[in-house]
Amino acid sequence: MANHKQGQEENTHHYATRSIHVGSEPDPSTGSVVPNLSVATTYLQYGIGKHHGYEYSRSDNPTRNALERLITSLETCPQREDGTETLVYASGSAATSALCQWVSLPEVEGGAGGGHGPGNGGHVLAVNDVYGGTARYLARTAKSTGLEVTFLDMEKAGEEGIRSHIRDDTKIIWLELPTNPMLLVPPLSLISKIVESLPHRPLIVCDTTFLSSYFFTPLSNCPGPPLADIVLSSLSKYSGGHSDIILGSLTVSARVKDRALRGLRFIQNSTGGIPSPRDCHLMIRSLKTLGLRALKHGMNALQVASWLKTCPLVEKVRYPGLNGDGAFHTVEGLLSTNAKRELEFLGWQFPFKPSPTENSTGGLAHLRSLGIPFGGVVSFVLKDAPSEAVERFVTSLKIIFLAESLGGAESLIEVPYAMTHAQLPEETKAALGITHNLIRLSVGIEDAEDLIEDLTQAMRAANN
Ligand SMILES: *Cc1c(COP(=O)(O)O)cnc(C)c1O
Repeated sequence: MANHKQGQEENTHHYATRSIHVGSEPDPSTGSVVPNLSVATTYLQYGIGKHHGYEYSRSDNPTRNALERLITSLETCPQREDGTETLVYASGSAATSALCQWVSLPEVEGGAGGGHGPGNGGHVLAVNDVYGGTARYLARTAKSTGLEVTFLDMEKAGEEGIRSHIRDDTKIIWLELPTNPMLLVPPLSLISKIVESLPHRPLIVCDTTFLSSYFFTPLSNCPGPPLADIVLSSLSKYSGGHSDIILGSLTVSARVKDRALRGLRFIQNSTGGIPSPRDCHLMIRSLKTLGLRALKHGMNALQVASWLKTCPLVEKVRYPGLNGDGAFHTVEGLLSTNAKRELEFLGWQFPFKPSPTENSTGGLAHLRSLGIPFGGVVSFVLKDAPSEAVERFVTSLKIIFLAESLGGAESLIEVPYAMTHAQLPEETKAALGITHNLIRLSVGIEDAEDLIEDLTQAMRAANN
């Protein structure tokens, strides 16, 4: 395996520069300025067991390796040349599955050693509003390994509530920030503090798919200690950004490398949950524009969310970046160093101070008065709308597509109750607030004015 290739010549440039150059070093034999696509399944050995770092493409592949180095670089701060490493998987769900297998894997194989509960597979404490596929994996598929899971509303539970749900065989605290579709923000700093005080120190896994490394890098948090131990990302969303690649990743912080990395590599090699080098190649290209896209997604979402707030047909709007949203001050503190730096360049002030709007002619000054860009997903409730009106609304849209998923250049809208979260039991949906008239909107990078016009005409149609 070629792990040694990761994290060595760590590039100390800023985020945008790293996104273009790390993993894309010119090829020494041809000078090619984009990385070669390496499709070979096997590699020539010049002696028995003597090779150039690669033996068989399931175990390691140069294109995948280049993508892993790039993601590591984007998830950490350049000052921290600390051996953080990334593994890329065939999907975000394959990354989830690998982590669950790691929980139950014996320690001699590099796993967490399972637990002593009835199932003996170890325990995971998870936020209650996890991604539908993750909930399904944790609650159902992982049962076969004896894994036990507790779901908890960590935004509400408070310190004592969280502490009381951590068992001594809890191996992972599983967070999403923000959650889906309610966009809740679990108290990451508090959880991180709780975990530090525990002798068996469960790992904090944070799924950052909804924000991407542009807005949120809990492994970095320079100069403070990392707020999480492992970052899980479905690259299928913002990182890929064009709704045409399914991939996922786990980035393991250096401080838990000895505990987790060997086992995760062992599981990946033995279960084969690897991505195609062609998808990795396309992902490297996508990541070069993540910064540009993410900022535009965020600015559009801020504009659309603030417009929705003024809409008489809309009851509740959730966008954590909107000044006045319940999570606004938390997310302001979690914003990545890079995003903060770029926003300051555009005139934002931190701690957040709304721009005065009296002399403003709209544009950036208007945006700066609303809050901060923080991801591209907005959720809202259509006031008193029966199911038929909800359906008329989402099918009357002309630019915004009715479809699952998020993070693509095009805007996508969906009704979690009947689509992405349809499989959840009724009482769970009710407890989470996933009602039939809750709408999730992944704001794309079209012109925000056109999106608002489209929403306006669809609301009119829904009301008729
Ligand atoms: C999509 C998604 C996943 C699963 O990723 P896939 O690549 O579709 O398998 C996990 N977590 C979140 C938050 C997601 O949005």
